[in-house]
Amino acid sequence: MESVLDERERTGVPDAILLEDYLSEKVFIDNLKKRYKENLIYTYIGQVVVSVNPYKDLGIYTENHLEKYRNVNFYEVPPHVFAITENAYKAMIAEVADHCILISGESGAGKTEASKQVLRFLAATSLHRREMDRVRDRLLQSNPLLEAFGNAKTNRNDNSSRFGKYMDIEFNFKGDPVGGHILNYLLEKSRVVHQEIGERNFHVFYQLLAGAPSHLLEKLHLERNADSYFYLKQGKSGHVDSISDSGDFEAVQHALATLNFTDEEKESIWGILGAILHLGNVSFKGDDDGLAKVVDETHVNYCSKLLGCESQELLNALTHRTIEARGDVVTSPLHPEQAVYARDALAKSVYERVFDWLVERINQTLHNTEAGRKTLLGILDIYGFEIFDRNGFEQFCINYCNEKLQQVFIELTLRSEQDEYRREGIEWEQVEYFDNKIICDLVEEKHKGIISLLDEECLRPGEATDATFLAKMNSHLAKHKHYFSYDTSVNNKVKKTINKDEFRLRHYAGDVAYRVQGFLDKNNDLLFRDLKEVMTHTSNLILTAVFPKEELGRKKRPDTAATQFKNSLGGLMNILMNKEPSYIRCIKPNDEKRSYHFNEERVSHQVKYLGLMENLRVRRAGFAYRRQYEVFLHRYKSLCPATWPSYKGQAKDGVHSIVKHLKYSPEDYRMGRSKLFIRLPRTLFKTEDALQA
Ligand code: ATP
Ligand code: MG
Repeated sequence: MESVLDERERTGVPDAILLEDYLSEKVFIDNLKKRYKENLIYTYIGQVVVSVNPYKDLGIYTENHLEKYRNVNFYEVPPHVFAITENAYKAMIAEVADHCILISGESGAGKTEASKQVLRFLAATSLHRREMDRVRDRLLQSNPLLEAFGNAKTNRNDNSSRFGKYMDIEFNFKGDPVGGHILNYLLEKSRVVHQEIGERNFHVFYQLLAGAPSHLLEKLHLERNADSYFYLKQGKSGHVDSISDSGDFEAVQHALATLNFTDEEKESIWGILGAILHLGNVSFKGDDDGLAKVVDETHVNYCSKLLGCESQELLNALTHRTIEARGDVVTSPLHPEQAVYARDALAKSVYERVFDWLVERINQTLHNTEAGRKTLLGILDIYGFEIFDRNGFEQFCINYCNEKLQQVFIELTLRSEQDEYRREGIEWEQVEYFDNKIICDLVEEKHKGIISLLDEECLRPGEATDATFLAKMNSHLAKHKHYFSYDTSVNNKVKKTINKDEFRLRHYAGDVAYRVQGFLDKNNDLLFRDLKEVMTHTSNLILTAVFPKEELGRKKRPDTAATQFKNSLGGLMNILMNKEPSYIRCIKPNDEKRSYHFNEERVSHQVKYLGLMENLRVRRAGFAYRRQYEVFLHRYKSLCPATWPSYKGQAKDGVHSIVKHLKYSPEDYRMGRSKLFIRLPRTLFKTEDALQA
């Protein structure tokens, strides 16, 4: 028979704090690799679970697994997302405190898959199965619907989330899920009108074309072939092997039904999607004066029919721009490229608002009306850090978001660690770590930060350009340790040079160069008034709701895109800071989406920027292991004559007898108020081995 030690050699340790050489990144990664080879994709660092994407179905999320992880002690079962979820759930009920599960990692690392399993586990928690079926189904069905509209094939992930999602699940005092609420963050709406080679638009468009019954397509004047639509074919990859668009369309239909969408609502949704596709096929040419003329009006006609507006009005709005200045209203015709810009702005704006509407609509259905005490368990699945060959405004926002989340991680892991030692009356020493607040400030500080500078430029229409924005940053931020420009790169001979139209930020996760092109435009996020006006009086149910007439009368400028994002992230930080966090840190083992392929260099980079080694050090700085006295006693009572075969005293005293009997040296452990703290894993191993003997 294989000994405990041999097995440990083969499968590594389930918790990295058991590694003797916990300062060595190599040892840490070797351990992950060993486990990965054995299909053990989960490894703990204390209460944090590290997950390495297996890129294959391991059969570890079955009904049996759901059962197995229910009502068990965290450390008595192999690491699993179910275990961390059960742990958070139990603590939430016991402490009557809100919890959250934060899932992080780069694109394709497995965040969304993890979040789905967490939700499945929680939805199945219900003690009173039948009554809860309705809530449970609705919670679960919100996923395929939002994924259809918010996910897309990218070059990194066939099902990449292009929006951030925070979902609260509400539990009553009995621990049954009774409702939920979703917050969505910054949808990458530019994808509606443009895709890079190898990428696709949002799934839902392809699903509609592949899966809709012919009579629906006829009604929408659509063809089955996605390549007929400019908005769908730019990536030249309409078909994706891993995806069944028609099957997924069925799933979306099912979700819509479960979430009680009415026929009228569904009709309105499909109409809008069809209209967007037609809109993309509207092209412009210049007339003798160089002014925009629609090449073929068929698509404008279909589009206006589906949106429920006047064709002529839409046509005018696409080719003209009205500006109100000091009481004067001036309408001027657009040039073809301006008209394309207006067309795309309309498509993006409509899609984004429909997406927001969907989330709101789902929230209404998930809204809980039961009275009584509630606790919340939140799940955060948000886009991971992105470094592409070309990075723009979207990457800037996404990476800023990751900086903020790293702040939460630093704040809450260290704080909770510190709190625990204080609560238990135990001394501990501080661990050094990099605080990325300086980078958050660089981006968001009032008056001085990048977003403020960008907003200032956006207030100078006609004068400011992306180039003036860059120049402004270069002069204001020249001295900042995390900001680099073309000039600094020339002066300091930084090896990787920076282009003239770029600025580079030294993020906690690495250096990223951003091209300024499009920053002003995307931050302004302008939809010409003419088009907005048309949208406010359509007969489409959803458009009527998302383009309210009052918006036209509003004089005040709406917040810019970056400022809105900053504010909504601020809100998210508040939500998270007030909850007890658990973490799932996802790692992508290779860039080829291959199973059993563990690229150490890639993993090492992620381990670094996820701060896993720091996490481990903090965890080990004081005491590697801690156990509630009751739990420790229960497990090891047979090792000591004073507690075995029967023991009636206080758990703490019993544990004291056990550690005395096992001759723990005084340096190796501390007795806290409610827990035993053990300094080195070795001590616990020996105890565990004694139990096995
Ligand atoms: P993005 O930031 O792009 O949204 P993500 O971190 O959400 O990325 P996922 O969509 O969850 O990544 O995972 C990418 C793919 O990896 C999945 O579609 C699936 O094929 C595979 N995968 C991820 N996690 C698992 C898992 N636990 N078991 C099996 N396959 C997985
Ligand atoms: Mg995802």
